[in-house]
Amino acid sequence: MMSTKRDYYEILGVSKGASAEEIKKAYRKLALQYHPDRVGEEQKKEAEEKFKEISEAYAVLSDSKKRELYDKFGHAGIDSRYSTEDIFRGADFSWIFKDFGASSFGSIFEDIFSGFGFDIFGTGGQGRRGARTGEDIHLQTSISLVEAASGAEKELSFYHLGRCPKCQGAGAEPGSSKQTCSTCRGRGVVSSGLGFISFSQTCPTCKGEGEVFRKRCTQCAGQGRIKAKKNIKVNIPAGVDTGSVLRLRGEGHFGEAGYGVLYLHINVKPHPLFTRDEDMIRCNVRVNIFKAILGGDIEVPTLNGKVQMKIPPGTQPDTVFRLKGKGIMNLRTKRPGDELVKVEVEIPKRLSSKERRLLEEWAKLRREEL
Ligand SMILES: [Zn+2]
Ligand SMILES: [Zn+2]
Repeated sequence: MMSTKRDYYEILGVSKGASAEEIKKAYRKLALQYHPDRVGEEQKKEAEEKFKEISEAYAVLSDSKKRELYDKFGHAGIDSRYSTEDIFRGADFSWIFKDFGASSFGSIFEDIFSGFGFDIFGTGGQGRRGARTGEDIHLQTSISLVEAASGAEKELSFYHLGRCPKCQGAGAEPGSSKQTCSTCRGRGVVSSGLGFISFSQTCPTCKGEGEVFRKRCTQCAGQGRIKAKKNIKVNIPAGVDTGSVLRLRGEGHFGEAGYGVLYLHINVKPHPLFTRDEDMIRCNVRVNIFKAILGGDIEVPTLNGKVQMKIPPGTQPDTVFRLKGKGIMNLRTKRPGDELVKVEVEIPKRLSSKERRLLEEWAKLRREEL
């Protein structure tokens, strides 16, 4: 397959003979320019691709072995020898984080390169990961059509991982002092070698801090968070439908950078009388033949109870009447939809002989064929 990749030197805008320092400078300039957090929403996707491209070029050209291979064989030399993650292994990006804040750059790296199964952080011991927000929670709740139409307050009961009350989320036994992490000897990163490829990752023991508490919190076993039951009241706005999702900030799991989000997925149960068509509801009402012929008031169910509706004399079977504003609140316009009432005319099934005589007489009067 033909490689469609651009030349790494061209991507960074440096010459073939560029020094390590020039490559570093060029990368840093471009990384700032294309950092996805620094561009508008509509350019984000493009900036992300660009960021990946320049980062890959830098990963290869900053590594003397990979650069040599690239200079000799081009992309084929790299691609035949390294998987995508191996291209990045051993590359040192930490000097960027140092000057521009670990959390913002760190998180963008995690976003872009997540799925590689390892962290791309430098070997300089500055690999403190950005503090993370707790995980999100997804819950489902079922409500009636009436609740969906006019809004409802629901009590939700669920478990989440809350901040440990004993250590306040720190994971340490109160009063415990810190000691140098023995896993990484205080560097915050651990490296391992695999032939001539070496790669570093954030120390799993101290999460890049370089230090750990001497005593773990006994209540949360050093996790900083414990399972807790939550009871909350949720206001479900009028107009929601099955598939609507409410976003409740701060109700997810606890994390160093705050609580995650609780997503409440709404399911609206079917109603025995009404069917819903976006903000309209439909129902059928049966009237007797006399009312259909003579007209008059009929009783019609609505989402808020029964109302009287006038039908004109000579109402034909299956005529649909519209009750303005008796439907469901439209979430966008904040105006209620209508209720459509279909009139079904009941034809008597059994007649007494007297009724039969009267009907025949009536038909004669109207010169109807019998
Ligand atoms: Zn604790
Ligand atoms: Zn450590």
